[in-house]
Amino acid sequence: MSESSAPRPAASTHFQDDHGAVVDHHDEEALAAAIAEETHRLYWANRWTAPLGTSVVAVVVFLSLRDSFPSIPLLLWTASLFVISAVIALSFGIPKFAAYTGRQGLPLLIPPSHFLIGLTCGLLLWLGPEATDATGGLWIILAALFAMSAGVSSMSNVNHLRILLLVPMWTVASVALIRASQWVPALGGVVFLAISTTNEIRSTELWRDVVSLRFRESQHAERNAWRAKHDELTGLLNRAGVIGHLGTGAPATALFVDLDHFKEANDRFGHAMGDRVLQQVARRLEQEAPGNAKVARIGGDEFFIMVEGRLHDNEAMELGANIIAALEEPFGIDSTEEIWISASVGYTSLEAGESDTSRLMVEADHAMLQAKRRGRRQVAAFTSGLEETLKARTGLESSLRKAVRSRSIDCALQPVFDLRTGRIELVEMLARWTLDSGSAVPPAVFIPLAEQVGLIDELTEQMLDTAGRLLRAWGHVPALQDARVSVNVSPVQVAKGKLLDVATAVVAEHAIAPGKLVLELTESATLSKMRSTVELFDELRSLGVSLLLDDFGTGYSSLGHLLSLPLTGVKIDRSLITGLGGDPRQRAVMTAVRDLAVVLGHEVIAEGVENSRQVEALLDMGITSGQGYGLMRPVPAEDLVEQIGLLDPGTQQLKIRGGLR
Ligand code: C2E
Ligand code: CA
Ligand code: CA
Repeated sequence: MSESSAPRPAASTHFQDDHGAVVDHHDEEALAAAIAEETHRLYWANRWTAPLGTSVVAVVVFLSLRDSFPSIPLLLWTASLFVISAVIALSFGIPKFAAYTGRQGLPLLIPPSHFLIGLTCGLLLWLGPEATDATGGLWIILAALFAMSAGVSSMSNVNHLRILLLVPMWTVASVALIRASQWVPALGGVVFLAISTTNEIRSTELWRDVVSLRFRESQHAERNAWRAKHDELTGLLNRAGVIGHLGTGAPATALFVDLDHFKEANDRFGHAMGDRVLQQVARRLEQEAPGNAKVARIGGDEFFIMVEGRLHDNEAMELGANIIAALEEPFGIDSTEEIWISASVGYTSLEAGESDTSRLMVEADHAMLQAKRRGRRQVAAFTSGLEETLKARTGLESSLRKAVRSRSIDCALQPVFDLRTGRIELVEMLARWTLDSGSAVPPAVFIPLAEQVGLIDELTEQMLDTAGRLLRAWGHVPALQDARVSVNVSPVQVAKGKLLDVATAVVAEHAIAPGKLVLELTESATLSKMRSTVELFDELRSLGVSLLLDDFGTGYSSLGHLLSLPLTGVKIDRSLITGLGGDPRQRAVMTAVRDLAVVLGHEVIAEGVENSRQVEALLDMGITSGQGYGLMRPVPAEDLVEQIGLLDPGTQQLKIRGGLR
């Protein structure tokens, strides 16, 4: 068992069900309501104490003095007593001037109110007929003072203190009355004593409830603090929790564990099952990890183990191998079906003061990726070689950041031609990045990087903006007047949906016909999150923007998508064009795609057209739009118009048939 679960508060058992699952009670609202209710009860109980007691005394005294009735003073104090009681007890709340908010957030009578009540009690007894002898009066004044101090003490909300004061107060008062031979008022005092004491005991119970509620509240806060540093599903530390343990500079070995193909299992067995598996994975990792290790879940299916003290390479390798073996044991959930997964592990070690320990995670992550590249289900170390690539990547990342911020990512343009006439139908924008050193970084390198480091939105925004400018500038170029412009969009952007705003803004800002703007999306982009993709596409379509499915025929190819997505066209991937003419099967696929596209009203564009044989084959199949090195290579934006000048000067059209190498 590792330490990672040790700092959990004792109360955390409440958060876990029998399977170790952390249960979210959603009871914060219920708790708040219970506290409010208890507080209200308490408030009422407190509010009635003094008026009720004094009223009882008044009634008793009144009844006992029926003989001398009507006595003016008696009538007066009885009346005033009831008025005060009524005002305090029956008013909707304690009047603002008579109340303050106590430490527990309850409305309480301010000391003058208590003073008033105390004074009333004293006067009640003082004014009683026959109770006018000096000793009796003194005792009664003492009683009044006690009442006042009891009132003040109630500010502290410590009930036993109030009882301590009330009991002697009324004992003294009763003794005084008995000495003055005022039997009935003395009885009244005793009754008040009983009522008050009972009431105080009752409110002590209520206070206890409130206090326990307060306690639960603080437990809640503790739980929230726990949540901030732990993963609720597995009870392990989360990323924030484990990061707190990094950066201490002490020697350590860190392992990054990533489950292989977990997403597929998740999709196949459902998320509830996936969650169960993750919980069991967590338990197995805790079992395998050494006692002094911190085990964390830092992503969906990513785990991180930090071992204090540096492990030898063979120890780390062994630990990694044990982890992989432990995770390859089938997961029996629900006894219906066994789930099999595997894992890839990367590790890195740091000597004391060797390096910035906060890099442990990054390095272990890279080692893990290396393990994946080598074919998964294995352990890889973070080597100096990896360190080089990591440094290069970090360097590249900051250069890319600068390049995007300074808008120095250029674009090359590659037209799509009508293969029959050679007219330009569409111009695709391809991002280009040249380093200060003059060497170009291929888009296959920097586009994924931009996606990973969150620069892709900005880059696409710039490309869309440039698209708007190009369209405006071409208004006067005959060969390009009718051309549309296409921008490539990354899969991650489809998932986020900010795209719609940017596209809308560009269309408005440049006052372009939205139909002239085309977005190219790869199929991988559309695969996950199908429903939100369809929604986004629908909205883009209603904006008037065209949507092309890029690289159709590669990797994730699915005719299903062609049917279910609101597209305007497809770009058939180069790989299907290459063998055209030769391979009859490829031809069959192409014809099928073409037929489907025709039925759906989609436009079909062939990519990677490199020779005239391919052009002939495409035209034979009725595919009339093509793009490729054989027609025109991507050219810098400023060169496009010039390049067009090289086209047939009469028609400003490319001579395609026979014009290709
Ligand atoms: P893509 O969208 O499929 O772009 C076509 C790629 O094929 C371009 O490579 C183009 O130069 C190349 N190509 C065109 N015709 C031919 C041909 O006849 N033969 C051969 N062998 N290749 C041809 P590039 O410019 O290196 O772009 C690579 C990929 O990078 C693009 O593939 C696209 O997915 C991505 N990309 C480029 N610019 C952007 C961008 O601004 N945003 C996003 N998200 N992705 C971009
Ligand atoms: Ca493209
Ligand atoms: Ca493509």
